[in-house]
Amino acid sequence: MPRRTPPRSWPTSPPRRSARSAEDQRFVAQASELLASSLEYERTLANVAALAVSEFADWCAIDMLEPAGSLSRLAIAHRDPEKVQLANELAEKYPPDSDAPYGVPNVIRTRQPELFSEISDELLVQATAETPELLQLLRELGLRSSMCVPLVVRDRVLGAITFIAAESGRRYDERDLITAEDLARRAATAVDNALLYREAQAARREALDSLAVVDAIFAAAPVGLAFMDANFQYVRVNEALATINGLPAEEHLGRSLRDVLGDELAHTIEPYHRHVLETGEPVLDLAVEGRTAAAPGETRNWLVSYYPVRDATEQVIGVGVVITDVTERERARAAAEAAGARLSVLAEASQRLAGSLDYESTLASLARLLVPRFADWYAVDVVDGSRFRRIAVVHKDPAKEEWAKKSMELFAPERRELEGTARVARTGEAVLYREVSEELLAASTLNEEHHEVLRQLGMASAMCVPLTAGGRTFGALMLVSADPERLFGEEDLDFAKHLGRRAAVAVDNARLYRETERRARAALVVQHVADGVLLVNTEGVIRLWNPAAEQLTDVPASEALGRQAAELFDDWESIAQLAESDEHRPVTQAVKVNGRELWLSITAVRDLTEERAVETLKSDFVSTISHELRTPLAAIYGAALTLRREDVILGEPQRTGLLEVIASESDRLARIVNDVLWVSRLESDRLRTTIEPCDAVEIARNVVDAARQYIPVSIKLALTTPTGAVPPVAADADKIRQVLTNLVENAVKYSPDGGRVTVEVVTVGPRLRFTVSDDGLGVPPAEHRRIFEKFYRLDPDLTRGVGGTGLGLYISRELLERMGGRIWVESSGAGGSTFVAELPLAD
Ligand code: ADP
Repeated sequence: MPRRTPPRSWPTSPPRRSARSAEDQRFVAQASELLASSLEYERTLANVAALAVSEFADWCAIDMLEPAGSLSRLAIAHRDPEKVQLANELAEKYPPDSDAPYGVPNVIRTRQPELFSEISDELLVQATAETPELLQLLRELGLRSSMCVPLVVRDRVLGAITFIAAESGRRYDERDLITAEDLARRAATAVDNALLYREAQAARREALDSLAVVDAIFAAAPVGLAFMDANFQYVRVNEALATINGLPAEEHLGRSLRDVLGDELAHTIEPYHRHVLETGEPVLDLAVEGRTAAAPGETRNWLVSYYPVRDATEQVIGVGVVITDVTERERARAAAEAAGARLSVLAEASQRLAGSLDYESTLASLARLLVPRFADWYAVDVVDGSRFRRIAVVHKDPAKEEWAKKSMELFAPERRELEGTARVARTGEAVLYREVSEELLAASTLNEEHHEVLRQLGMASAMCVPLTAGGRTFGALMLVSADPERLFGEEDLDFAKHLGRRAAVAVDNARLYRETERRARAALVVQHVADGVLLVNTEGVIRLWNPAAEQLTDVPASEALGRQAAELFDDWESIAQLAESDEHRPVTQAVKVNGRELWLSITAVRDLTEERAVETLKSDFVSTISHELRTPLAAIYGAALTLRREDVILGEPQRTGLLEVIASESDRLARIVNDVLWVSRLESDRLRTTIEPCDAVEIARNVVDAARQYIPVSIKLALTTPTGAVPPVAADADKIRQVLTNLVENAVKYSPDGGRVTVEVVTVGPRLRFTVSDDGLGVPPAEHRRIFEKFYRLDPDLTRGVGGTGLGLYISRELLERMGGRIWVESSGAGGSTFVAELPLAD
């Protein structure tokens, strides 16, 4: 289409110029008022357009430039609504061409106003060149004059306003254009203000929305969040952090770190805060371990980060704290690590155990795998006859070596103990002492010194597992934690049980191997002797047939072994009878084997191990007793002989002296015999105790009164009892009397001249305690346990010059144990000793 830039303006005529100008000014003033009245610019502009058609134009259209560059009609106004509708339809049907050389697109593009004072028919024809059907319509509308002004503000085009004069016959001129431009400027400013306001509103709404989101996240986040100002004071704290700190969120506000967390923790945290505040650098993912006020007994793990918080000017105004609880993750990791470590220890332990036949030192060397990783100390006990032998005690702390040694040498467990090794050996079951209380410790130790040894080694948690092989428990392993923070649980016990099982199997194998070796060596000897040797078991089956026997009988071992002896030997019956007799010496007998006559030397072979042990015990007993009996007998015999002599004239004092010797030594003899009878009764379990409530003070008084009758006058014997009533003790009165008498006799016996012996009765918790103290020789700590063993005497050779059987304390201990009591000695080895006997109170 040929383009023709229309003239910038057409010449105008000036009819009624001044009156119109006044009207126009009024119109502009009214329009300005309208524009200022509301921020809803769409409606205001439409109102302005409506105002324009009554005052300033026949038509007024307002078009806005959309952000995408297209035009949209905001308003079109005419007095006649039908014409408005027609105009709208036309605008829809014939949208403006954005490249059009005049009209709204041109004004928007060039930002220059357009004025057509006179709309000629020629112009109409030109404008409808591409839509000729419009021409007639436009002609009918009678368009006479038009102005189009851009809406420009802050260098931005917002749209354009078009004024058209038609039926009024008005013609616009330059002055009208100035008015129109003035109005357009005001309108543009109003639109701009409205838009700015809307943007601000939207921004504010957006900010509020995002703040609400942040608030919601802050409150509900499972991680602990806090904002602290530059003075280390809490400004905001979420629930999760409040829980960790054990203080309601609102109580944090305005309080300082030191106030809430205490000096120690604040001392650790403040440097991080300071670092963040001073450098503006974050501190990320610090691993922190601690406890919360909410669960003080439980150690938890957190990852803590500190971030700088800045204001709008980028100034660091505080510290953001983010705390993530990673306890579960840490626990899972630690559990997996521990399981792995346990497995590798088990594997290594098995290897060690299998690799050595010296199981005792191997069991001891397991300590290196277990301490300090799994336990703070470790002990191994093995059953040795009727007692335990402690073969190792290893503590992680070398400074405790002396105590470990004490535990090993002096305090091997005893069968009669209720807990620990003794219990495990009795039941064959492992035990876990998750938390070892002071009471448990006190109840499972035999005396104060034993208690002290365990206290020094530390016993916060312990487990004891049996070493069982072939259905027999031959020892126990004990793992102990000295740290109340490390308490053993079921998993640890499982591990220890595994270890115990493997150790037991290895030990059993080693024993079997040794036994087999021993037998193999014995068999080897038999193989090489020149005598024919054969062994027949109780079923009459030949189990051994040596090469010499093969030669002598001409029967090969392969034929003899496993056969009934009766099949090989004629008249085996009579030979078997000889073997079964109690005769231990070899018996020689003629036999016929394989048609040959041979002389057979027959010996009954028995497993003598057990019998021999009993024999040894018996002979020990007999020799001790004979020794003890011989001393008083010799004195009696000597005195009697002297009295009988006729060649010596004895004065009255000598006679009385000799008779006294006879009397006192007889007394001693009777006592020895009495002790032996007691031992025999105790050992054969023929002893009966009648437990009933007894008056401990009365018994003690009886014993002390009786003792005063015979003790040397130089020795002071005193009884101390509580001032108030003493509850009755559950025991057998005769047996307590016997124990007390023995303790008092010992105290007197081992006291120096002028010594002082004190008997005291006190109640300690649910127990009654008798103590007998002297200031005599004392008992060295290393002997504290042994003196309670049968026949044990510190001074068997009587270098101290005091005789005895070494049975009194043994009998006392046994009697007390049968009444549910116990006995121990407290003494440093010099300056006297205190024997303590304890019994339960009657309910
Ligand atoms: P004994 O007949 O030898 O006194 P006991 O069994 O009564 O036998 O005592 C065992 C050992 O304990 C004694 O031989 C002695 O060495 C020691 N003993 C017992 N009581 C005392 C004491 N009060 N002071 C020092 N040593 C004692």
